[in-house]
Amino acid sequence: MKRRTKLTWVLVFVLLAGWTGYHIYLKHPDPYQHVKAVRDLNEIQNRLTLVKGRMTLRNIGEIQYPSFKTPMWAVCVEPVSPPTRRCLLVGGVHGNEPAGTETLLRFIEQLSANENAYPDTAFDIIPVANPWGWVHNRRRNYERYDLNRDFAHFYTQETRLIRDFLRGKRYDIALDLHEDGTAAGFYLYQYAEADPGPARDLIAKERAAGYSIAQEVWMVVLRSHDGLIRAPMWTLYFVRAIRTMSIGNIMRLDYSGRAYTLETPSTFPMEKRVDMDMIAIRHFLSRP
Ligand SMILES: [Zn+2]
Repeated sequence: MKRRTKLTWVLVFVLLAGWTGYHIYLKHPDPYQHVKAVRDLNEIQNRLTLVKGRMTLRNIGEIQYPSFKTPMWAVCVEPVSPPTRRCLLVGGVHGNEPAGTETLLRFIEQLSANENAYPDTAFDIIPVANPWGWVHNRRRNYERYDLNRDFAHFYTQETRLIRDFLRGKRYDIALDLHEDGTAAGFYLYQYAEADPGPARDLIAKERAAGYSIAQEVWMVVLRSHDGLIRAPMWTLYFVRAIRTMSIGNIMRLDYSGRAYTLETPSTFPMEKRVDMDMIAIRHFLSRP
């Protein structure tokens, strides 16, 4: 066989193996069995029912598995004056990354205590996107789907509820809060945004607050540069073509002019992860 033909066959094999492996990763055949609950959704429900003022606690649908049933909550905030911008905040897409959920619960409590904190901003906040995962401290949902690869197929109840809630909406800014179990510091993704300035300013603020910034993080072909992974528009079209979309991807492609995924290091204490997320939320909501 000619060298070039051999190379072509190797390439085809590698691509096929990669494709197959990735789809095995996406769709795990068996639901979880005998996984212990480590958190209680009543705690979240109790905190959310205390919200008052211009906030509405909405039940956007039911998540139902054998011996597990819960509403999916969204907190919607309409400001005092007509809004000049709309903001979407999502946490807990991965159930073993609880800092995002805790951050959003505290942010909701702060908004509830001070209606004038952002007098011109409307919010839609989904604090627990993967309730079963949060309760059982698992990245995936009960059916072992990684929700953050399912925003093209919408195989799961969770992603379908979020899609239906977002249908027809438009935001100025959207943040998705995650953690990274192996990162040594904070980092973030920005999607299809020419100007790295706002993200760079955030990294400077995190650093000034004493937090380390993750270096050398890889996401398939994209690499972080001092805590920032810039995903250009072609990568969003690519993940749409191969149908493995994250919520950050659809936030930017379908719903928001600006979208970011925040990653705090899981090895840091909860209070520090929450603080990093809060710095980021306040930064992106600050007016120049
Ligand atoms: Zn995550």
